[in-house]
Amino acid sequence: MTKIAMKNPIAEIDGDEMTRVLWALVKEKLIFPHVDVKTEYYDLGLMNRDATNDEVSAEAARAIQRLGVGVKCATITGNAARKAEYNLKALYPSPNATIRAILDGTVFRKPITVSSIKPSVSTWKKPIVIGRHAYGDVYRAAEMEVKGPGRVELVYTGIDGVERRTVVADFTGPGVVQGMHNLDASIESFARSCFLYALEEKLPVWFATKDTISKTYDGRFKQIFREIYEGEFKEKCTAAGIDYFYTLIDDAVARVIKGEGGFLWACKNYDGDVMSDMIASAAGSLAMMTSVLVSPHGVFEYEAAHGTVQQHYYRWQRGEKTSTNPVALIFAWTGALAKRAELDGTAELGGFARRLEKATLDTIEGGQMTGDLAKLAVPAPEKTLDSQEFIDAIGKRL
Ligand code: NAP
Ligand code: MG
Repeated sequence: MTKIAMKNPIAEIDGDEMTRVLWALVKEKLIFPHVDVKTEYYDLGLMNRDATNDEVSAEAARAIQRLGVGVKCATITGNAARKAEYNLKALYPSPNATIRAILDGTVFRKPITVSSIKPSVSTWKKPIVIGRHAYGDVYRAAEMEVKGPGRVELVYTGIDGVERRTVVADFTGPGVVQGMHNLDASIESFARSCFLYALEEKLPVWFATKDTISKTYDGRFKQIFREIYEGEFKEKCTAAGIDYFYTLIDDAVARVIKGEGGFLWACKNYDGDVMSDMIASAAGSLAMMTSVLVSPHGVFEYEAAHGTVQQHYYRWQRGEKTSTNPVALIFAWTGALAKRAELDGTAELGGFARRLEKATLDTIEGGQMTGDLAKLAVPAPEKTLDSQEFIDAIGKRL
């Protein structure tokens, strides 16, 4: 059998622990037999990040930028325990943070649905995609404890020395205060990424804030979204048959639960943090979620939404078989290959990616699955497969 050729390479970013083990298996069993894979390989395993003083993380991000498409395995975010465990020279920032800072993107997360696993919300017929703004608000706030009576003010000092102030509160006793911010440029790129993704996936866009209460702050978000939509995307969206809907956040939450799904929910940073965990749990498993970072310049990085599944890895190291679900990793690869195919105009490669996705879902719907899904599936499977057996079953079907 001749293998499917690739015109241009993608940036391949390897990672850590159980996902690194599965990464190799997915490539060997499901992709290499069918595709003559072209990648630029970056090893972001913790040992290599340490060996390169973490330069490899920035190199990987620049490779994604240059090639337009990347695929990333889950990576350990260093902390004191990991520093001791891996005997590291230093503590490095999260590779995801490094990559996001260079690509300036928004993260989109979408449940992968199968007929045998019903969402907890019975009205949902189609997946709800979350687009989370990843800059500012409460995540970059200044906070202070107020010890007793006194005035708290916001003070802006322009570089020309001109000052503006507003009273936050006149405290009559102790309390707390918080100052947060966002930037027009960041909100604009968030809005652009959302509309680009929506066009890509042919999904209507919902955006919600609390602008009735926060007239200036949330009002700015609402205004920028509207301007970007009207000015840059309305015609394209209309032509694609999708629209833009703005409402208040509490109204949005009620509509999400009563609705059928099938839209992109653009969320401010905190809303996205909280709501993406709700959507993921209601849809079943962390491993049944795709995640893609879309930059406003049209660069795409596909990844799994979950971590390195550390505890499974320790069991695997002891020689045990684990039933770790590789679906999110498979979909990271198919997402990247399909995007490469689209950009290069190589239909055969795109067809392969879709067939691999279908083989994966059909395998689960046919009753063969890993333990996390076996707990939820109706009807329950007779037997739970380990990771290798599950990947082999997909390979056979493919
Ligand atoms: P995790 O790797 O997502 O795993 C948390 C738990 O979720 C697992 O113990 C497992 O539950 C379940 N799970 C997650 N993925 C699964 C899969 N594919 N199949 C089956 N079960 C799955 O999160 P963590 O343990 O908090 O983090 C481990 C490491 O990952 C950390 O070092 C963290 O820094 C890193 N991390 C990386 C990323 C990223 O690179 N994108 C994201 C998050 C975390 P059971 O044990 O009940 O089976
Ligand atoms: Mg969270």
